[in-house]
Amino acid sequence: MIPIFPSIGYDRLRMEVDGEGVTTLVCAQGCPLRCKYCINPESSRDCGKPRHIFTPASLYKLLKIDSLYFLATGGGVTFGGGEPLLYVDFMEAFARLVPDWKINCETSLWVHPRQVERAARLIDHFIVDVKDTDPEIYRAYTGKEFSRVEENLRLLLKLVGAEKITVRLPLIPNYNTDAHRDRSEALLREWGVTHFDRFDYVIKEK
Ligand code: SF4
Repeated sequence: MIPIFPSIGYDRLRMEVDGEGVTTLVCAQGCPLRCKYCINPESSRDCGKPRHIFTPASLYKLLKIDSLYFLATGGGVTFGGGEPLLYVDFMEAFARLVPDWKINCETSLWVHPRQVERAARLIDHFIVDVKDTDPEIYRAYTGKEFSRVEENLRLLLKLVGAEKITVRLPLIPNYNTDAHRDRSEALLREWGVTHFDRFDYVIKEK
């Protein structure tokens, strides 16, 4: 069976925002988390049909127009979310079509460890959206247990090493503080993480 990637959209010619060089971000539909300030609410499977259903060949056909940019800058494709690790079958088949492009993945790691093991063999750089390491804050904000992220991040560090991982630590209004972020960063450094992206969520007024 040909694996598919249901997508809420893609964005071409991004520069150094989600991976080295020029990248195209391709966003998955489907996410196990329910973040209170979800940046892509359409990514939930509850939001109806995806805008695109890609096969490896159809995505390659769409993205190859930028192949020269990818090759010249060391860039490639970044799979984001939603949660792209729900579609590891697809990413394995797609990676076989584009051996010279970099493949990055933005993930919460809230998936089965088997999906992490398979992704570790094909992803060049992981951008892990940890959010906060305090289990109560994580549960309040995402509706899920942090223990699964811990298990998978420790596994990923063992499989690919710290150089291939950037951890995102957002300041989340009404949920955590800078002191919480400092605590998260200190804990993650103990686990072996060395690259961090700290930023602030900006909540739009309704
Ligand atoms: S992990 Fe990302 S896509 Fe999923 S609910 Fe949270 S913000 Fe939304």
